[in-house]
Amino acid sequence: MMMRTQAEKLVERLKNACVFHRFDEPGVYAEYVRALAQYDYDRMNAAIDAAIEEDSRNVPAISLLIKKYKGTSNTPKGQVEIKNDEYCAICDDRGFVLIKEKHPETGTTYEYILYCPYCNVGRTYAYDGSQCKGHKSQYKIPPLTKCFGDEGIQAMRETNLKKRAKRIETISPIKKELQTVGKSIPDSWQYDVPF
Ligand SMILES: [Zn+2]
Repeated sequence: MMMRTQAEKLVERLKNACVFHRFDEPGVYAEYVRALAQYDYDRMNAAIDAAIEEDSRNVPAISLLIKKYKGTSNTPKGQVEIKNDEYCAICDDRGFVLIKEKHPETGTTYEYILYCPYCNVGRTYAYDGSQCKGHKSQYKIPPLTKCFGDEGIQAMRETNLKKRAKRIETISPIKKELQTVGKSIPDSWQYDVPF
């Protein structure tokens, strides 16, 4: 949320930057202020930059600004969040696995991170351990293939697929049934059950 004066400042920016605008028409100015005020100032400012960069003739529609806003994130510029196109059963889409190893003499347990070389998320961890969410490491991470052979990897895959199947099962049975026939019900949508 931003202050009203900040929202007005942003609308003034749009007004000055774009050749064509409709801010003189009744209600338009107020509507933009009202819409923009619901968002964070800095991020919306960046969204306006991005929209103007594409087209500085026409004032971008509110819907476009919101779209751009959602595209900007709090992560530093140039850092794009990588996601897997397909589910990676080997690392459960985490990109890495943790293994525990007991020191043979002291008995202390150590945790190691190994990256998953089979998916996009995993490859982002290949060089820089400091990127691991929640498991920061200053060292280079080896691939899990270094510690696991084919059998071990197959076992990981099977375990994750089983876990995943369980997670899907916990979704309400009706939803699941509909999913299997390729339909899904939006959460806010309800219909009358005739019994
Ligand atoms: Zn993976």
